[in-house]
Amino acid sequence: MRIKGVFERTLPISRYADPSIPSGGLDTSAVAVVTDQICDGEPIIGYGFSSIGRFGQRGLIRDRFAPRLMSAGKPLIDPDTGLLDPYRAWDAMMKGEKPGGHGERSVAVGTLDMAIWDACAKAAELPLFRYIQKTLATTDEIKPVPVYAGGGYYFSENDTLHLRDEMEGFLAAGFTHAKIKVGAKSIEEDIERIEVALDVLGEGPCLAIDAIYSYTLEEVLKAGTEFERFGLWWFEDICDPLDFDTIAAATAAYKPPIAAGEAQFSLPDARNLIKYSQLRANHDILLFDIAHCYGLPEYLGIIKMAEGLGWDRSSFYPHGGHLFTLHAVAALGLGGAELNPHNFQPFGGLTDDAVIDNGYALPPELPGIGFEGRKDLFQVFHDLVRDNS
Ligand code: MG
Repeated sequence: MRIKGVFERTLPISRYADPSIPSGGLDTSAVAVVTDQICDGEPIIGYGFSSIGRFGQRGLIRDRFAPRLMSAGKPLIDPDTGLLDPYRAWDAMMKGEKPGGHGERSVAVGTLDMAIWDACAKAAELPLFRYIQKTLATTDEIKPVPVYAGGGYYFSENDTLHLRDEMEGFLAAGFTHAKIKVGAKSIEEDIERIEVALDVLGEGPCLAIDAIYSYTLEEVLKAGTEFERFGLWWFEDICDPLDFDTIAAATAAYKPPIAAGEAQFSLPDARNLIKYSQLRANHDILLFDIAHCYGLPEYLGIIKMAEGLGWDRSSFYPHGGHLFTLHAVAALGLGGAELNPHNFQPFGGLTDDAVIDNGYALPPELPGIGFEGRKDLFQVFHDLVRDNS
């Protein structure tokens, strides 16, 4: 089994389900990794994308990482199984790369890594979470995963009215926990948003807020003082993600959990965040996005590093909001998974027949990640392959 072709297409995505609301120009890369292994008369193809929140990675994928996969040939095969090995593929992509200066090359590698895991799990005829467990030789026990609904972006008109509708929709869909945005308006206006969301969801520990890096030191201390009384589930992305002094000042002043790590894209960056931001082990929340962090092999190293610093896996709630993340959380026994039920479509959310049961979900039993069970998204991948064949 070897990789015959790697296709990429950069596609626009929006945080809003309503196409009339400006998306802000965000895009992502969809990729297809075509293997020479035939199953039911068709080649096994792995699919992936660049998670959400960062841009597409066309240049790095096409010019640098895909050619390394295509030219690697036999060394990508696990001699024990004769099948494509995700760890060998990862090593091939990273050949010649120097430490440091991670930038967004980690997103390009993570995008292809997602597709490679999809292909490998399909070749093993297993859903991805079971394949991950098999490669790690861990228990094959699987428990429903705590999931929460990511959303709560500002609406340009009738903001709190729409926010209330959105939260009611989350509850009706089976969610018990949700995350909304703050930091782009006055603290008074954000308090109104928090109160509206809590009025629908219930008490504070079911609501997280995300400031999308908007506060200065002075602002975050003031906001924290105002928000603390709500006893929120967590307070996320409070300031520039590399401003460890400000995060440390916030953790010293704000008692409920703080969440960080969405913009740390490597193991060394994750270690620096944990150590120098004075994050509180097994109290604060770690958000590292698997696809943004060079993919699963690097993410496994991040978990091991954090555990060595006294953190429990229950503190990990990886950013992303999609199927791949849910598989990883289920396989690795992490704290829980974000889902984007209506943002960033068709990439956010689960398969079309997925059930959210009182705040819990299971990954699909389809081979691989299961993008085939998500009609709109699979159409994107299908078109990508068709147009390149
Ligand atoms: Mg965030």
